[in-house]
Amino acid sequence: MKYISTRLQEETNIKTAILKGLADDGGLFMPEYIPKLDSQFFENLPNLSLQEIGFTVASEFLGESISDENLKQIIDEVLNFEIPAVKITENIYSLELFHGPTMAFKDVGARFMARMMSYFSEGKPMKVIAATSGDTGSAVASGFFGVPEIEVYILYPKGKVSPLQEKQLTTWGGNIKALEINGTFDDCQALAKQILSDEELNRKFTLSSANSINIARLIPQTFYYFWAFAQLQKFGKPIVFSVPSGNFGNLTAGLFARKMGLPVHQFIASTNENNVVPKFLETGNYESKPSKQTISNAMDVGNPSNFERMKSLFNNDISDFRKEIVSYSFSDEETKNIMRKVKKEFNYTLDPHGAVAYLGLETLRQAQSDKEGEDFVGILLETAHPAKFVEVVEDVLNEKIVIPEKLEAFNKKEKQSVEFPVDFELVKQFLMEEK
Ligand SMILES: *Cc1c(COP(=O)(O)O)cnc(C)c1O
Repeated sequence: MKYISTRLQEETNIKTAILKGLADDGGLFMPEYIPKLDSQFFENLPNLSLQEIGFTVASEFLGESISDENLKQIIDEVLNFEIPAVKITENIYSLELFHGPTMAFKDVGARFMARMMSYFSEGKPMKVIAATSGDTGSAVASGFFGVPEIEVYILYPKGKVSPLQEKQLTTWGGNIKALEINGTFDDCQALAKQILSDEELNRKFTLSSANSINIARLIPQTFYYFWAFAQLQKFGKPIVFSVPSGNFGNLTAGLFARKMGLPVHQFIASTNENNVVPKFLETGNYESKPSKQTISNAMDVGNPSNFERMKSLFNNDISDFRKEIVSYSFSDEETKNIMRKVKKEFNYTLDPHGAVAYLGLETLRQAQSDKEGEDFVGILLETAHPAKFVEVVEDVLNEKIVIPEKLEAFNKKEKQSVEFPVDFELVKQFLMEEK
């Protein structure tokens, strides 16, 4: 399988696509086609474990670049936690993607990416650059922590991540360094792109990126769509996924799964007030905007990087786009209200991101309520444990929530970061002085 940049100027193999992250032409790598899984796989799906699904799906994308044995081992290591589909109501399930080490869904993608990069780099020294609006950084850090010969630099917006998120970014030490940028997430993302394309830095170091643009993040995120489908298809109803979206990596992975043959009835791209994609579907114009701060801050993205991948999946055809996804945007007020309602009526605690996804399901159901036979099972992707956003959740629900031991451990450690203004030259100077 070849991997081709979304800007079409570069073609390579999976190893290079993973090690580079971003293509030289500034595009994102895509498989040259989305492989189809055979009917036998789908018939057998309900009997497969998450790891078995992961192995079959990943093999399609990785081909001969890795032995079955090595791939099996990596997948077993990456997915060493549960991803349960928890019932909230008669026809709404929460796919809890947050049972990994940092308690956010990004653990899935970041752990797989770290292991694939380490496998393909064959022990050569490398610097990994990651811009984060919160959860990516900690998942990436956790995935790479202690990996020999790999140094990780995490750029995060000062004061715009939660206190616990900050602890999860800044307390690793060792091969993980936190760069605290006095700007927004978009500034961090722009700086990371500049670093990765800087000639001088590239002469001195082998650089790679680790945010949601790396294709190795997307591959494992397809696994759990098959997994959730396998568990809920028994109801014999159409299945709808609502994906709380920021950079749209998670949703793009879902679209991959559908192209591989998974009969998903509908995808909902649910966003907070950073509504570039819902606006695009409504008006046909894509207009990036500065990101707005909201209570679902991991989705505060004004120019979603995976939009290029979605465009390429849909051959740039808006009518295809509109067929494949619906997209809604919700305010913080609406998000808070649904968190209270779901807690009160169903005794389930949503985090602010999962709450946005829940709203997406409710909105679609209302839109379809006058159509007969449009009943569906809705699955919301619950992307973070509510304790990761303890300040917001406690404030909204007006009650204490229990912090799991895994998270409490971060709180007890000391923050270490280096602070920068939004100034590429200063960041570059710092990196040039690194060994
Ligand atoms: C990153 C993140 C999202 C958004 O995922 P994308 O793949 O960037 O769309 C949603 N929720 C949480 C908790 C996240 O960390």
